[in-house]
Amino acid sequence: MLGALDMFAIGIGPSSSHTIGPMKASLKFVELLDTEGIINKVTRLEANLYGSLALTGEGHGTVFAVLNGLSGKHPKTVDPDLFLKLVEQIKKDKQINLLDKHKVDFDITHDLLLHKKEFLPEHANGMSFVAYNDNKILLSKRYFSIGGGFIVDDNEIKNLSNQVADDVKIPYPFRTGAELFGLCEKNGFSIAKLVTRNELVRKTGEQFRIEALEIIEAMHKSVLRGISIEGFLPGSLEVRRRANGLYNKLNVESINSSLHDQRLLAMAFAIGVNEENAAFGKVVTAPTNGSAGTIPGVLEYYIRYGKDVTEDKLVEFILTAGAIGMLYKFGASISAAEVGCQGEIGVACSMASAALTAVLGGSLIQIAKAAEIAMEHSLGMTCDPIGGLVQIPCIERNGVAASRAIDIARLALLEEESGRVSLDDVIKTMLQTGHDMGMRYKETALGGLAVNVVNC
Ligand code: SF4
Repeated sequence: MLGALDMFAIGIGPSSSHTIGPMKASLKFVELLDTEGIINKVTRLEANLYGSLALTGEGHGTVFAVLNGLSGKHPKTVDPDLFLKLVEQIKKDKQINLLDKHKVDFDITHDLLLHKKEFLPEHANGMSFVAYNDNKILLSKRYFSIGGGFIVDDNEIKNLSNQVADDVKIPYPFRTGAELFGLCEKNGFSIAKLVTRNELVRKTGEQFRIEALEIIEAMHKSVLRGISIEGFLPGSLEVRRRANGLYNKLNVESINSSLHDQRLLAMAFAIGVNEENAAFGKVVTAPTNGSAGTIPGVLEYYIRYGKDVTEDKLVEFILTAGAIGMLYKFGASISAAEVGCQGEIGVACSMASAALTAVLGGSLIQIAKAAEIAMEHSLGMTCDPIGGLVQIPCIERNGVAASRAIDIARLALLEEESGRVSLDDVIKTMLQTGHDMGMRYKETALGGLAVNVVNC
């Protein structure tokens, strides 16, 4: 059962599909070795990254993530300050401590292989792990990182369309916008209330609320860190962090009445979060790491400038955003390797626009309209990160998406009727457009800005 809060995961940057997913997969593999009681027999371990993971894996921190995962670290709890130190240690010692329990020789140039020209047939983000006892294979598994930090194995990928099917019976199941908005209308529920009712089959309302507040708090902290740090981001591009300078220039005390400046400030918040993401900091996938800044940028704008902001309203914001994200997960994809940046920034903008419309008092029609407008004008957005780093265009793109979401919410609030294009129409179109898009525009860094901007 996929829930609204599953669209958000607190974890390390810079990429949910290329950092968080591979880190979870490699951790899962060593945990499996442990449960099967064979971890102590391992004399050699080989990790293979295929397709998009290999092509942009260095810039997206995939190699570092795999090394941390094999060492027993989880993206949510890993200390960002120790993340790179552990990698340096493994490189220096030429040894890895599997699950922090069993040391084996490990040379990343021979034991962690990047297959840049080979794509596994099932998905562009494939990886495999093989554990040996001398020449005998003890265990071999393939995993796929399918976006937003979600991973599936060999068997699960075969049933991917059913993977989010109802394994738990919920009172208000939905997979499309028509179903979600129809159920809300019929029962007189807000979107937040409907997804909460669904969650009550597996947890208490109090637990669910605590989880929602934890996500909101993590987003808020990532904004505060993002706007307070200066300097350069890691990587060959030598990108200077801008959020702190923008925030200071905007003279925060004097802009309360100017929507224009408030939008600029929301851009600074979003940019700050994605600078944190690029620096291997802690952020919340929303719905991915590359797009982690858009929703917190808009949320922080609402916290500071919204009227009568309450904890309930913040929870409504995050649950509405999550429910809209679920529609894309069900009906299309949130993986840039599958559908380009439409699936990251496009979806984040759609989620943020709908969430802001909801907490500003929008009707169901207006919320659906905001979600639809945001994606309609993100159709065709390619993924072409320069140097394979989640920096250019990613960071600024979050700022622009946050500002757009604020405008879109305000536009939707002025209109009372549904337009000609439904949210489901646009979700379907986004998927088709993504499938038609050339592979070089789908998180491979082989096209677009990635080849036209000199990286030196
Ligand atoms: S261009 Fe978009 S999809 Fe690609 S890495 Fe950057 S944020 Fe993610």
